[in-house]
Amino acid sequence: MTLGSPFGIPVHLHWSFGLLLAGAALWGGWMGGMLGLGLVSLSMGVLAGSVVLHELGHALAAKRFGIGTAHITLYPFGGVAAIERMPEDPDQEMVIALAGPAVNIALAAAFGWLWLLTTSPLVLVFAGLNLAMAVFNLLPAYPMDGGRVLRAYLARSMGMVPATRVAHRIGTGFAWAFIVVGVAWPWPSLLLVGAFLLVALRQEHQRMVAWNWERTTGRPAPWNTTTQSTPVPSASAPTSWPWSRS
Ligand SMILES: [Zn+2]
Repeated sequence: MTLGSPFGIPVHLHWSFGLLLAGAALWGGWMGGMLGLGLVSLSMGVLAGSVVLHELGHALAAKRFGIGTAHITLYPFGGVAAIERMPEDPDQEMVIALAGPAVNIALAAAFGWLWLLTTSPLVLVFAGLNLAMAVFNLLPAYPMDGGRVLRAYLARSMGMVPATRVAHRIGTGFAWAFIVVGVAWPWPSLLLVGAFLLVALRQEHQRMVAWNWERTTGRPAPWNTTTQSTPVPSASAPTSWPWSRS
């Protein structure tokens, strides 16, 4: 389902996120009637909106460097901006990676200001959601934003391939840690982030091998990687449905 195309970038809603929205709305209605339904719908709307704006931050930063974005898709754990390729200049990758969390920090500041005006606790929660989203995505869990910043930083001194190798190892550690904590807590959205990161890590590895092949041999890689775009996953895990044990 396509929600719209801001700046010419289609924003899709993955069916699993649609299911989650419907489930949450039903739960809100069942627990608190019309008020509950309204509160849950508003909260999910603000959360989804914050994720879309975060991804648009990445997409617009990429556009500045002449790189398009195929689509933005919302999942239960957050969103993914399918950037057509990553720039080979580490400084550009760093700007693209930081643009997403920067949007959340700006949104947190805006909600904080709104809270001063309204003193509504709900608005303060929205400020907190965005702050949590910024902090979580800045963890060095490659290929999430913080991991891309780390890779770009390392690539300046050690080169793209060794830097990716280090970031990949750290990212794999984070992915498994998210999965373990996600199962033990239980915290389903963190578990989903971990699982998604493992898939994204494998795709990034294949892309890196192909890129290195093309660079060293001067010929296109014998396997097809051009149809894939680089996923820039951004998690809303700390803000969505942790199931507390207490
Ligand atoms: Zn991001």
